[in-house]
Amino acid sequence: METTAAFAGLVCTDCGQDFDAGTTTHGCPDCGGILNPTYDLAALDLTRADLESRPFDGMWRYEELLPFPRDAAVTMDEGTTPLVECPELADELGVGRVVVKDEGRNPTGSFKDRGHALAVSAAVQHGASDVALASAGNAGQSAAAYAARAGLDSHVFVPSRASFVNKAMINVHGGDMNVVEGRFTDAAAACADAMEGEDWYSTSSFSTPYRHEGKKTMLYEIVEQLGWEVPDRVVYPTGGGVGLVGMHKGAKEFRDLGLIDGLPAMYAAQSSGCAPVVEAWERGSDRHDEWEVPDTICGGIEIPDPGASPLILDALRESDGGAVATPDDEILDSAITVAQHTGLEMGATCAAAASGAWELAEEGVFDDDDTVVLMNTATGNKEDDILRSHLMGKGL
Ligand SMILES: *Cc1c(COP(=O)(O)O)cnc(C)c1O
Ligand SMILES: [Zn+2]
Repeated sequence: METTAAFAGLVCTDCGQDFDAGTTTHGCPDCGGILNPTYDLAALDLTRADLESRPFDGMWRYEELLPFPRDAAVTMDEGTTPLVECPELADELGVGRVVVKDEGRNPTGSFKDRGHALAVSAAVQHGASDVALASAGNAGQSAAAYAARAGLDSHVFVPSRASFVNKAMINVHGGDMNVVEGRFTDAAAACADAMEGEDWYSTSSFSTPYRHEGKKTMLYEIVEQLGWEVPDRVVYPTGGGVGLVGMHKGAKEFRDLGLIDGLPAMYAAQSSGCAPVVEAWERGSDRHDEWEVPDTICGGIEIPDPGASPLILDALRESDGGAVATPDDEILDSAITVAQHTGLEMGATCAAAASGAWELAEEGVFDDDDTVVLMNTATGNKEDDILRSHLMGKGL
């Protein structure tokens, strides 16, 4: 396996055991817990000036803090997305500054590309010929694209309600697409069945240790784009919590390296139609209960049984953040407001973050000089039909 110098292997987030990343691929061999990549940060001499001197040319510019070197990466220059200033939203939310991290500008139009660049690189390092995953849609599209780039076969399991764009592009990239009747949980079960007896590398989130690891680079970039200011709040549309957990890990690494002092408060935003994390947060529990009847138009965050909820809830607590749910109707209104007031295109799923931020502002959670980051996790025009129907439903 070709790894970077400071990469120290995998540690179980549950039992704390260390494992060799060359031989351990998915989940803790002892307890089944989620694995985290670790680094010998003390041995790394990485300064703000080092990072500033590098071109802003994709997430691999943080190579020392990733498991695999850039020249062994399966990459399409994902990452280094813009952080767009939105003074209108800052006025509306009554805070000092609102910036939108626009992850729509990734190769397949969503932040899933960061996770798949790393996970498919890992699949190659492990000598896999096939990758497989269950996905609400965007991750499947991304997997098919990165597998195509690496010359691997991909097996993607999406629920029937996944968007047309996602299904079409999985086909276009040559993925083996399996449309499963029902919802995400049904797709996950079908994927698990199909993997029985196969030697496929799973790129399902938190099954591979590398999806959340790739997404941590969003936090690195935001901090650097803000001139090393740690944002006060980051609001994240939360399904499985991959990006939220990753970004929190990234913040702790930057802090431990002495690059920043504090941690941004992380907020999980969900739809009231599927809000297991918010429910667990409000109950003060350290684990979610499965959401009985998931029902939201925000497909990307319709995850009723997020296996990593203990990690999500830890991140919210450790960062002094929180969780917020808003109804689909308000979420769709927020997407339209953002599109009309800022020009930015935000899909329904991502707009859960905008809508959640409005709710948090109304609850008085924000201070008037706060810098608030909204994560626009995918390009808005992947969900153009949903936004347009919402307008038409209002007679517009
Ligand atoms: C996957 C996805 C999410 C949720 O991501 P998690 O990290 O699993 O919580 C949010 N928005 C969009 C557009 C997505 O595709
Ligand atoms: Zn373990």
